[in-house]
Amino acid sequence: MPLTDQFGRTATDLRVSLTDRCNLRCAYCMPAEGLDWLPKPELLTDDELVRAVGVAVAMLGIREVRFTGGEPLLRRGLPGIVERVAGLLPRPEISLTTNGIGLDRLAGPLRAAGLDRINVSLDTLSRETFVQLARRDRLDDVLAGLKAAASAGMTPVKVNAVLMRGVNDQEAPALLRFCLEHGYQLRFIEQMPLDAQHGWRRAEMVTADEVLAALSTEFTLTPDDPAGRGSAPAECFLVDGGPERVGIIGSVTRPFCGACDRIRLTADGQLRNCLFATAESDLRTPLRAGASDDELAAVWQRCIRAKLPGHGINDPDFLQPARPMSAIGG
Ligand code: SAM
Ligand code: SF4
Repeated sequence: MPLTDQFGRTATDLRVSLTDRCNLRCAYCMPAEGLDWLPKPELLTDDELVRAVGVAVAMLGIREVRFTGGEPLLRRGLPGIVERVAGLLPRPEISLTTNGIGLDRLAGPLRAAGLDRINVSLDTLSRETFVQLARRDRLDDVLAGLKAAASAGMTPVKVNAVLMRGVNDQEAPALLRFCLEHGYQLRFIEQMPLDAQHGWRRAEMVTADEVLAALSTEFTLTPDDPAGRGSAPAECFLVDGGPERVGIIGSVTRPFCGACDRIRLTADGQLRNCLFATAESDLRTPLRAGASDDELAAVWQRCIRAKLPGHGINDPDFLQPARPMSAIGG
């Protein structure tokens, strides 16, 4: 039975967080000192994770599985997890969102294991700005990871960028130039109120309109899909007539909740029907108590039926979820 909510939206895209840990400390995501990581016994084991995803794929119509975190490359045995998910039937599309550190080593094995697509986060091309924003001197590792992903054949490699006012907001055209040169597909994401330290301020957020204006000083952008963006959150634009494109994800100023097709599983086995959900459905307890596939499928169904029509960021009584992005899985 498909995962259809009360508003007629069907979830087919599952985001799986593999760990809440990270080797960067991006200012829009985490405080400099890091966070209290989840204790290991609370994390789903590889077997539990593959079983949970297997139920979603075989019984509930999930067609795409994206691994994220925290930093998913820190999960030991990641190629093995990818390989087992690639063995599920019907085979889901498998993708990964990563900061790219360690990808120079892992891109080949991940590709061989069945990884179809990859998104690498890159917010700046300046070493100083990288250190300021991510609080670690790792820009070269990210760039090496990007190269390795392209060499391994995961093309087009997608690049995610978040702009922060006064930090890297001057860099939109440079990032696009860099991605065009290397054949990467760039998408800007508006900063959302999901940081652990609750530092997000609407007035400081660089909006989709501002990104468009900045890019338009150097490039001619034409909407690529005037008929609408379906369930894809990125609005796409042809760059200088195409065929290259750039995407802008206006999560805050141009919400796409009405077409959302996502559901999420956290590293500790909690199902979430939205990034901004304030409640979770516990899948780990029944998994560990020997529940049948039908019983597990019922938990997924209960979770999706409770999905709200929108994220509510723009409502005056908006409440940021208790867990930050890094623990939910971005
Ligand atoms: N560590 C991996 C990475 O950085 O790609 C995967 C997890 S990260 C939470 C996933 C994506 O969410 C990244 O592209 C990151 O830039 C983005 N992100 C993190 N915090 C965000 C926020 N407050 N608003 C918008 N995007 C955010
Ligand atoms: Fe780590 Fe990704 Fe968060 Fe940056 S955005 S701190 S890389 S989880």
